[in-house]
Amino acid sequence: MTYLNMPSASITHLTAKCTQCGHEEGCGVPTAAFKAYKRGGSVQSHFPVGEYTAQNREVIMDNVPRPFPHFLCGPCWDEL
Ligand SMILES: [Zn+2]
Repeated sequence: MTYLNMPSASITHLTAKCTQCGHEEGCGVPTAAFKAYKRGGSVQSHFPVGEYTAQNREVIMDNVPRPFPHFLCGPCWDEL
């Protein structure tokens, strides 16, 4: 099980705070994938449907600069 010690297995823990209720949600992503996403490309191409939930991608997108930062937690999404 040596692969666990490989640097590529390192995880970046991201958090995003709900702009509606202040609840914080977290999501662990492979550090390499997050770095690649910050260099460019769509969030879906780096964090595909099936491996990550829509809510995971919302957290990820909130951790890169964007024009209108806005994050809603799961329960607040449901109330929309
Ligand atoms: Zn909320």
